[in-house]
Amino acid sequence: MSFPRDAGRVVIVGAGLAGFSAAQTLRSLGHEAPVTLVDAEPAAYDRPPLSKRLFANDFSLEDLAFSSPEKLSQAGIDTRFGQAVEAIDAASVTVTLENGEVVEGDTLLLAIGGRARSLTVPGADLPGVRTLRTFDDAAAIRAHVRSGTRVAVIGAGLIGAELASALHLHGADVTLIDPAETPLQPVIGSLLASHLHAMHSLRGIRVVTGLTERIETDGEAMTVVVDDGSVIPAELVVVGVGLVPNIELAAAAGLETDGGILVDEHYRTSVPSVFAAGDVARLRDSRGVLHRREEHWEAAQLSGQHAAHAMLGVDLPVRGASWFWSDRHGIHLEASGRLHGDGEFVVRPGVHPAVFLVDEGLLVGVAAIDDNNTVRAARRIIDQRIPVVASDLADPSFALRSMLRAERAKTRNA
Ligand SMILES: Cc1cc2nc3c(=O)[nH]c(=O)nc-3n(C[C@H](O)[C@H](O)[C@H](O)COP(=O)(O)OP(=O)(O)OC[C@H]3O[C@@H](n4cnc5c(N)ncnc54)[C@H](O)[C@@H]3O)c2cc1C
Repeated sequence: MSFPRDAGRVVIVGAGLAGFSAAQTLRSLGHEAPVTLVDAEPAAYDRPPLSKRLFANDFSLEDLAFSSPEKLSQAGIDTRFGQAVEAIDAASVTVTLENGEVVEGDTLLLAIGGRARSLTVPGADLPGVRTLRTFDDAAAIRAHVRSGTRVAVIGAGLIGAELASALHLHGADVTLIDPAETPLQPVIGSLLASHLHAMHSLRGIRVVTGLTERIETDGEAMTVVVDDGSVIPAELVVVGVGLVPNIELAAAAGLETDGGILVDEHYRTSVPSVFAAGDVARLRDSRGVLHRREEHWEAAQLSGQHAAHAMLGVDLPVRGASWFWSDRHGIHLEASGRLHGDGEFVVRPGVHPAVFLVDEGLLVGVAAIDDNNTVRAARRIIDQRIPVVASDLADPSFALRSMLRAERAKTRNA
């Protein structure tokens, strides 16, 4: 099959969701040349279950894997798992693995994600202080926790909150520490953020608002000292304070980086034969504006798919509003678009409130709990730029889908 661009041999570094999706897409589009997927980890696997299902009976690497080595091989995807890439040469499109092997390609995709950010306070490097990014991290946390184990979770963002909930459900004695009164406010707006944060204490998790100053140990248990005066004893401390993008390989190879590997709308880096996707990629749009990196599952999947298309010279339309979900305390949160910055917040009351951000008559963001229909419809309204009326959005009996139907009818009759 011929494509507008001959991607030739494709080497993909990083077999997380972005890299795996790119490999799969290349094959489903009919790209026939060799595709090699390289990862330092022993398998290509999914990360969201690490903070949600780590205490499930069937929690295993096989269970989380996107595909088995046999299926990858049947799809003609060559793998080098358990091998970190130590260097890349962007000009010759070669990567050097830690065992010395050099893998040659014609097109390279960097889908190397990031690593968990560590704390820089005294005691942050104690052996009982952990982070959560990989299967091994989750397995180590699981192995340390019994009913009644005292666990301090530092950071109440998406991963910290989910982990605190899973630990609590497993019977651990959990303290959740964050300097913000309402963590996640920039992502889902203050009302929903405080609603969700309040759930922790309602379920029996101790919530401490303050900055961690230091972690001490007497050789057995640890103590987390917080600047509000709290002193929290813990057998295990888990730090969930964000992600550091893995840009070093790209920077050393001369690719442009700035808090991420810089890419254009088609995931091309500053070197034409090298693409980047997923958590590590940062969009610099055609006006030169740098966007925030997206650190969400769907963004990783779509960017991998888009990058695969772009490698073959098949450009897809620019993606619509971002979307993510989070599960904790038995509820399911979904959000799409922007819920910070300019605009008017509109709240739709209910068992759990839904929030919308309306800017100049257009919907720009939505978040709701246990209501994926609302988020799905709102997302389409955002993407189609359908004008909205705040009082409609605030009315629990108003079906957003009716706006989409009306818009379709208008287009048909136009
Ligand atoms: C615990 C957890 C829970 C999450 N929950 C949610 C959620 O509920 N909803 C949501 O929308 N998103 C969630 N996410 C985010 C989502 O999982 C990520 O956005 C997604 O996994 C990013 O995929 P990626 O392929 O870009 O990066 P990654 O999954 O990080 O994959 C990058 C891969 O590159 C490999 N790599 C890096 N450097 C090298 C090297 N030098 N050589 C070889 N290999 C290398 C790594 O080993 C890794 O396998 C969660 C993430 C975590 C960690």
